[in-house]
Amino acid sequence: MQYDVLILGHGIAGAVFAETCRMRGLSVHVFDQKREGNASMAAAGLVNPVVLRRDVPVWRATELMTAMRTFYADWERHLGISCWHPTPLVKLFPTANDVRQWKRAMADPATAPFITCQPEPEVDASPLRAPHGYGTVTHAGWLDIPLLLEAHRSSLALEGRLAEREVRPTDIRTEPGGIRVGEVHGRWLVECTGSFSTAQGLLPVKGETLTVRIPGLRLGRMIHGKAGLQPVADGLFRVGATFKWTDLWEGPTQEARTALLEQLWATVDAPVEVVAQHAGVRPAVRDRRPLLGKTGPHTVLFNGMGTRGVMLAPWCAAHLLEHLMDGKPLDPEVDRSRFD
Ligand SMILES: Cc1cc2nc3c(=O)[nH]c(=O)nc-3n(C[C@H](O)[C@H](O)[C@H](O)COP(=O)(O)OP(=O)(O)OC[C@H]3O[C@@H](n4cnc5c(N)ncnc54)[C@H](O)[C@@H]3O)c2cc1C
Repeated sequence: MQYDVLILGHGIAGAVFAETCRMRGLSVHVFDQKREGNASMAAAGLVNPVVLRRDVPVWRATELMTAMRTFYADWERHLGISCWHPTPLVKLFPTANDVRQWKRAMADPATAPFITCQPEPEVDASPLRAPHGYGTVTHAGWLDIPLLLEAHRSSLALEGRLAEREVRPTDIRTEPGGIRVGEVHGRWLVECTGSFSTAQGLLPVKGETLTVRIPGLRLGRMIHGKAGLQPVADGLFRVGATFKWTDLWEGPTQEARTALLEQLWATVDAPVEVVAQHAGVRPAVRDRRPLLGKTGPHTVLFNGMGTRGVMLAPWCAAHLLEHLMDGKPLDPEVDRSRFD
């Protein structure tokens, strides 16, 4: 079996890379074995082009948002599903200082295109604790990652391009002109294994979220207060997430559940029922930039999606593929060799 690209790992990084290859007419084969702590299955899937602590745009916000929008829209059409939900994000202002910072951001040409300050008829503000009002990030949304990965997995499986198996280093053999995993041969092997990778520069961060029911709360917007609150279905909300740099792989904890509920009660004054708890490990990087590039004559790294995998992956996949196929130099900020 001969393919252009073999992909190891089917989280959002591996899936987006596979789809980017398909759109360029390249054949792919994916290997994936689901493991506890997989980041993509725990993620809320939020896309927000603004760093809300400082009200400044995220790294390359305009480029990333442009690449992301068309990419997921095309992919949805191809798979016949609806998984991208454009949903403005409302930032609650706990102090007068937050209002001043927001006004400064609205006057800044870099941030202004993404934010506004307007009444939100979609938000029932009465149970929200926002003594100084709120502002809105208009270009936000969320991706239903589990739905997208499942649909993509099924389409790969139907075409015989998916092997649900663990790949050990001893399973990989370099050959003239390419690389082999078992019976499958490719020109490139792209490793998209997130926090399970031993790549230099990775600094994995554990995160937990809750799914809660808040009966009667009407929200057509995502909320950023002491807690993040994302409407996912009628009466159901995703709350989170936590950040922890130790005990990465111990799964859901009571400590995180208590912390998230306290943050939630500081954000919304309403009765809450916990429906589910999720834990995963984000493949973050020491300098908060992606990790892309060749690791050998036929091996490649696609990692370091950190806290913003949904927004970063489409731009990163297109950039890496242009490097591999067209010889375009990698942007030094994302080149994995900065950690050699
Ligand atoms: C709690 C939480 C909330 C988050 N919220 C958001 C958010 O709102 N928005 C956002 O953009 N990002 C969010 N993130 C970050 C996002 O989840 C990550 O950036 C992204 O999921 C990383 O994807 P990945 O494909 O690199 O890794 P993963 O999703 O971990 O996928 C790696 C895959 O490789 C497989 N694998 C590994 N080794 C092998 C092997 N040897 N053989 C076979 N298979 C293997 C694993 O089983 C897994 O399926 C969040 C993360 C967490 C934990």
